[in-house]
Amino acid sequence: MARSDNPLRDLSKRGAQTQMVHGGQDRSPFGETSEAIYMTSGFSYADSARAEARFTGDEPGHIYSRFSNPTVDMFQKRMALLEGAAAARATASGMAAVTTALMAQVRAGDHVVASRALFGGCRFVVEDYLPRWGVDSTLVDGSDPENFAKAMRPNTKLVFLETPTNPTLELVDIEAVAEIAHAHGAVLVVDNVFATPLWQKPLELGADLVVYSATKHIDGQGRALAGIILGSEELIGGDVHTIIRQTGPSISPFNAWIMLKGLETIDLRVRRMTESAARIADFLADHPKVSRLYYPHHRSHPQYDLAKRQMGAGSTMVAFEVDGGQDKAFTVADNLAIVLTSNNLGDAKSIVSHPATTTHQRFTDEVREELGISRGLLRLSVGLEDADDLIADLGFALDQV
Ligand SMILES: *Cc1c(COP(=O)(O)O)cnc(C)c1O
Repeated sequence: MARSDNPLRDLSKRGAQTQMVHGGQDRSPFGETSEAIYMTSGFSYADSARAEARFTGDEPGHIYSRFSNPTVDMFQKRMALLEGAAAARATASGMAAVTTALMAQVRAGDHVVASRALFGGCRFVVEDYLPRWGVDSTLVDGSDPENFAKAMRPNTKLVFLETPTNPTLELVDIEAVAEIAHAHGAVLVVDNVFATPLWQKPLELGADLVVYSATKHIDGQGRALAGIILGSEELIGGDVHTIIRQTGPSISPFNAWIMLKGLETIDLRVRRMTESAARIADFLADHPKVSRLYYPHHRSHPQYDLAKRQMGAGSTMVAFEVDGGQDKAFTVADNLAIVLTSNNLGDAKSIVSHPATTTHQRFTDEVREELGISRGLLRLSVGLEDADDLIADLGFALDQV
């Protein structure tokens, strides 16, 4: 049968959702429909001369799964299509991605500026580990870009931020901070987990590297840990690739396959979760037992204009303060029948957490106050259950206060 020239054979003519289903697939001679899991640590060569050519780089191909692997490649390519990035490298966890992205850019004597409202592990790396390795770091209130400008030094090589922040969903203006970083010759790294790749494109706003904990919305079903770093071929194929190759925070091909399959449904999942989150935010905003709501696309958000400009939607996370403090917040969490108490997020299952006593327990009262984490604050990761059920569940729990 003759095949005519279908323009859709050209990958660049395909829409985003088509790319998430087919993008990056590298079929074996068996013609499998679902992507193959290449569960192998090494690769063999036809002869010694071919082995030599692989190592010199004269012949393309895989050498060892710490450096590259066909299943991992498929995940990286599909994810790069979603992000609009030239290149990507996957890692074993989100923290491996963040640590690798930072370590790849700095050396002893350099300085890093970061927003102070960071995911727990990220703040630990910036505040405790980097200085141990001779890299000074300054944490700033990220809500005003001017604070980044004031903290820049001649040896500042990197700026790191997360927006919206965990857990109070405060925003950082990526475009403004990118300008400040670049004026000082520093690279900007953005942790885009809370926004998700659907609703915020840091590279388009001027960031140099984007990092994800793929454990969250990319898997989306609470099964496995993974991370990914995306950016230009120069940064990713250079320092980022080398540090992964030489230090080994590499992802298992099996976990890369889970993430690859997650990307097939990420658009459907995140859209539905976001719709539900927006409805829940409206419900909580008017509730008499809720003293404060945090949701980027709700009018009550202090950075509502920036949220509308920077994010395509308000995301899947909602935070709120229960009037009356910790006891009342516990009463709400403990009276939920559907929403689970856990510290994960981005899962199909809705999850509530009490940051002050769990993820942010190690901080002093002073730091928690600085970050706006009160004793009454609950963080909600909205899942894929019926939104009506979730609203009824929250309504019942709040009525018990
Ligand atoms: C979860 C998370 C991380 C760490 O990712 P892991 O996959 O748990 O290692 C980093 N940053 C943010 C914003 C996260 O939510």
